[in-house]
Formats: sequence, structure tokens, C-alpha cells
Amino acid sequence: MKKHKVRIYDSTLRDGAQTRGVNFSLSDKERILGILDDLGVDYIEGGWPGANPTDDQFFKSLPKLKSSKLVAFGMMRKYGKSSENDPGLNAVLNSGVSAACLVGKSSDFNVKNALKIGLNANLDMIGDTVSYASKRLDEIMFDAEHFFDGYKINPKYSLESIKIAYNAGAKWIILCDTNGGTLPYEVSQILEEVKSIIPSEKLGVHFHNDTDNATSNSLESVRNGVSQVQGTFNGLGERCGNANLVNVVSNLVLKMGYHCSLKKNLKKITLVSKYIDETLNRQSPRNLPFVGSSAFAHKGGLHISAVEKDPRCYEHIDPEEVGNERTLVVSNQSGKSNILNKLKKFKIKINDNEKEVLDFLKLTKNQEFLGYAYDGAEASFELLARRKFQKFKEFYSLESFKVSDEKRKNSNGEFVPFSEAKVKIYVDKKKFYSASEGNGPIHALDRALRKALSKFYPKLKKLNLIDYKVRILTPEDGTKALVRVRIESSNKKYMWSTIGVSYNVIDASYIALHDSITYHLLKS
Ligand SMILES: [Zn+2]
Repeated sequence: MKKHKVRIYDSTLRDGAQTRGVNFSLSDKERILGILDDLGVDYIEGGWPGANPTDDQFFKSLPKLKSSKLVAFGMMRKYGKSSENDPGLNAVLNSGVSAACLVGKSSDFNVKNALKIGLNANLDMIGDTVSYASKRLDEIMFDAEHFFDGYKINPKYSLESIKIAYNAGAKWIILCDTNGGTLPYEVSQILEEVKSIIPSEKLGVHFHNDTDNATSNSLESVRNGVSQVQGTFNGLGERCGNANLVNVVSNLVLKMGYHCSLKKNLKKITLVSKYIDETLNRQSPRNLPFVGSSAFAHKGGLHISAVEKDPRCYEHIDPEEVGNERTLVVSNQSGKSNILNKLKKFKIKINDNEKEVLDFLKLTKNQEFLGYAYDGAEASFELLARRKFQKFKEFYSLESFKVSDEKRKNSNGEFVPFSEAKVKIYVDKKKFYSASEGNGPIHALDRALRKALSKFYPKLKKLNLIDYKVRILTPEDGTKALVRVRIESSNKKYMWSTIGVSYNVIDASYIALHDSITYHLLKS
């Protein structure tokens, strides 16, 4: 049987933003958008224009995407308003995108108990909104909220709601399991009936993971002909999260033989998963299927000896297919292939010197033990490698720095912070001093360093720090904890990340800052 093409719709930046503890800054959103576009996701839902200032800003400065289509999220017109006069709906349609996903209620229970309006009034809202929006944009998707739950109570009403949207011009009907309580066998039964009124190439699904079935439900839907799957990276999302696209895509491609546009980039999926967690300052669980650091880690002696004979003895796929790697927990060789790949990527010659590679592997493992996580900070990794394998001349060396931080009253009697930094550095054996004030200690330190260095390196002017994140690595230690600082920098052409680890947050920041400056000067 010929298998149909499956479109992947990512909602990390919208539904994923509902995760507790996750807050996307504008630059987080832009970076994640870039990396998903690079991966080849078909549709990327950027957010909800008009819902919050970050999303407004995001849609105002839309970049050109190379492979993905950006989608704005919104909802049906308000009850009692016409579509033309609904500012919320029009904000979505005017946001500069050519596709929008508009949510409406497909369950009579929710119409009665949440909207508290008449059942027919809800159907009118769906018909009007979809028909109006379809004349404005190329591609309108109707997000049938609570479809599966609604179907279980009143199938006729739920089916009627999607039929109206389809007839009004919706290009896609997205069936949502909003509460995440549906099981795979129910999905198959319900889809059987849906397909009798909507062609399966127009159907998409959106599952939440409240029973740990979001991936299975998505796969079961595709098996039943559904052509679009929505989800988020790493299963981000409200409560128990959304369908995890990492698992959905890996299974569709590797296990079920479906074609989707991410297929050619599947080897990047481990990196993308880690990158997104790092961007959000989240610890990636080791036991994530496919992409977790333990997904192909073998510890038991018997397992290891068998895997060394043939990895298929204890592995369901070759880890390389998803860009992950095999780890033999007791072996000092584990991680070697990953290191070699990275050195190749950075075009660092190693002249087949096995001992040097193993030394470097030991060094990186030691660094990781100390708290360095290079997955989200490739620039620091590259510098570590260049310092090891190349005669790498530092652009400056530090003799010392001193940072002072005060809180004191100003002339109005209000408390204000005051920060100052002094640095002593060497450039070409000549010593330089400089001092600077700043908004905070890191800002002062950054300014003092630049002041001292800019005479020699005018290019430093182009270096911008665009993001700064601190994570506590030993939470049990409270304020004396080990911290990791991650700095995102840009020179207007590209961005890079560097990290520093220390028990002292200013020291950790300095390490990351030093790498950022060094990387910038090295590359320009
Ligand atoms: Zn959702």
C-alpha cells in the first residue's frame, strides 16, 4: 500500500508556551523558529497575535523562512460580534502570515458549560469565521477543540461542527483531544466515521498526553489516513504536555515508513531536542526515547558484551539515525564517535592521533562532570577543541578583575544598585587597566573588558550579548550552589552560545564572556 505524505505542525512556540516554568523571550522564539525551519518542519505555529506583547513583537518582525510555513493561532469570532468587527480575529488575520489555525468548540458539553451559548450560535460562529478568514488568507485550519470528547457525548454535533468549517472553506480540519483522555482504539473508531464526511488528506490531529498516549494516538491517526500531525518538541505543553514530535516523527519515519519533510534531517533531531531544552533552561530527561542521553546507553555487563558483538542485540534502531550515540557506561571509548564528528564539523585536523583524541575525550568528560553542557554551547566546545588541537593564541590574558556591587540610597532617598568593575589584562605582554560602571556586575565587567580591548580589537564593537541565562546545578545547595551561565552572542550575521561554570556567578559569567569574546575575534 502506498503511504501518504504526513505534514508536521509544530506548536512549541504556542501550545508549548503553556508549560509550567517555560517562558519564551522574543529571542528564544526567534531562535527556535530558525532551528525548526532549518529542520524542515512543514508548519510552525508562531503564537497568537494580539494575545501578548511578545507575540505581537514576534509577528511584527517576521523573518523569511526557507522551508517552513509560519502559522498564526487565533479563535472564532466572539459571540454577538461580526467577524469583520472582531478586533481579536482581525489581529490574527492581519499579522502578516498566509496561514492561520483558528480554534472553535466541537463539543456540545463545552458550548453549554464553558461558552454558555446556544448550540446553533456556536455553529454559526464557526461558519462565519472560517468563511470570512478563508477569503483573507490562503490556508485556514479549523482547530476542532474537544472534538474527541465531544464525539463521545454527542457525535452528531461534533461532526456537524467540522462539516460546517470544511464547507466554509477550511483547508484543514484539526481534530483535537484537548483533555488528552482518548485511547488509541477509540481514535480508530472515531476516525472511521469522520472520514465519511471529510477527506483524510484534509484531516489533522492534535493530541495531549494526559494518558501517555499522545504519540500512539498520533501514529494511529496517520495509520487511519490522517495527513497532518500537530505537537511540540520534547512534548512541551500544558499539564502533561502535547504529543512529542520527536517521537511522532521518529516512529513515522523509522518504524512505519511514512514520508515527511523532516525525514532528510532526522539525524539532527537529537541536537534540536537538546537545543530547545537548553534555550529554555530545562534539564533534558536522560531517558527520553530516541534522543535522551541514556536512550542507547548500556550498563549491564552482559548487555555490553553483546552490544559490542552486534548492537542490534540490545538496540531497536541505530542511534545514528536520529543523531544520538551509543554509550557503553563503563568504557572510556564511549562518546568517541560523537567527538570525532564534532571535530570534523569544525574542520579541526587530528592527524589520526588516537592518544590525543582519547585525551580530549577525557577532558570533555571531565568538563561535563564539572557541569559544562556543550550541547547548547557549541562555541565553547569548539574553543575547547581548538585550544587542545591547535596552537591557539589567546587574544588577551587576564591578570585579575574586581567587581563591586552596592545598593545605596540616591538623592531622593530611594535604594538603587550600583556596580563597578576593574580589570587588569595583558595583550601581547603589555599590561592594561580599565574600569567601568554598569547596570549590574556583569554589565560593568563586560564594559571594562571591552574598554581595555577595543583599542586592539575594534571589531569588538560588533559583538552583542543578546541573552544571558543562569542555571543552578546543585539545587540542594541553595544560594551556595554551583551555577552554569550561558551567554548568547551575535555579530548581526550569526549567533553563538558560550558557557561558564563556577560556584561564583560572576566568575561563571566571566568564563562564558571570555569565550564569547574569543570566539568573536577568532571568527571575524
Ligand atoms: Zn493543545
